[in-house]
Amino acid sequence: MRAPHRNAPASVPPADVADAASVTGFDIGGTWLRFRSGGRAVRRPAPSLLNHPGLSVDALTDRLLDELTGPEVGPGRVVVSLGAAMDDLTSRVHGSGPLWGAGRPRPGLVAELARRRPDIRWHVYNDVTCAVTDLAAGRGAPLTGASRVAYVTVSSGIALKTADLAARTITVGADGFQGEIGHLPASVPAGPDPAALARLLDLPCECGGRGHVAALSAGPALPRVARALGLGPFDGARLADRVADGDREAVLLLDVVTHPVAQAIRWLTAIDPAIALVGIGGGVAEGLGGVYQRALELHLDREADYTSGAARRASPTVLAPGEIDPIRGAALLAEGFLTVVKP
Ligand SMILES: [Zn+2]
Repeated sequence: MRAPHRNAPASVPPADVADAASVTGFDIGGTWLRFRSGGRAVRRPAPSLLNHPGLSVDALTDRLLDELTGPEVGPGRVVVSLGAAMDDLTSRVHGSGPLWGAGRPRPGLVAELARRRPDIRWHVYNDVTCAVTDLAAGRGAPLTGASRVAYVTVSSGIALKTADLAARTITVGADGFQGEIGHLPASVPAGPDPAALARLLDLPCECGGRGHVAALSAGPALPRVARALGLGPFDGARLADRVADGDREAVLLLDVVTHPVAQAIRWLTAIDPAIALVGIGGGVAEGLGGVYQRALELHLDREADYTSGAARRASPTVLAPGEIDPIRGAALLAEGFLTVVKP
């Protein structure tokens, strides 16, 4: 790994990752596995508990390792954006609701990759670390050096990370975590009756807990929230159109599922005034696009006080589908564009 480009402006990604198609890498989410190499891109269902509810964590881990080390891969450098809570410095993988539920993968997952394929130089990072790095290199580029950028993913799970553009760092705790907001207690907007409120805050989370942010706002939560609110049949593919048409039930559903995300943005920007940009990505937010953006803004404006001003100054922006490329972000990390550090 090259030394970090500490003195270069954050706006200049290393030339060898500017052409993202040249990177060989994986993006492993709870729903999809994406692989790119030599300009070829493929997408397959991820070897996740979400896609294979009957399989054990051990069997799922084996399938993941088989995918990563298959004949189509390498040799040379391979970058991996992994949708799991992990320590980017030690490569220790702690868990992932969408990939393994409440189970834990066996220790030494990344070391096992190196044992299976010693001809490959592995660079494995948490997917949100990859995404915030790509955001910093893209939309973060025009910002001044004192700024921070944050990325929130709203997909099969929920998490966020902030990056410091001046120091060119992403600071994580001793355990390697930063921004694991998906398993914090969720909030519910005013409106639902007390019985619905109790049902919402008791919704199960993929981690085994209840009433977490992910239990109300992640992709798998949407049909459950609709049921808890006593709404009609849920059709995710039509949700954006129904909201745009002013359908009362669809508007209520979006209002409830975006509230915990809006509250997270409010807390984040109230605590850290250096945050100049909050990018919101992931399949749920990107798929709903403009209606998701407006729902977040409504929450921030509805409970208006000076904390909503701080949140709006941080330009919460739902990103376009495909705008953030986690594989390119992983390659940027491998090149030292940003460095993960512990205090
Ligand atoms: Zn949880």
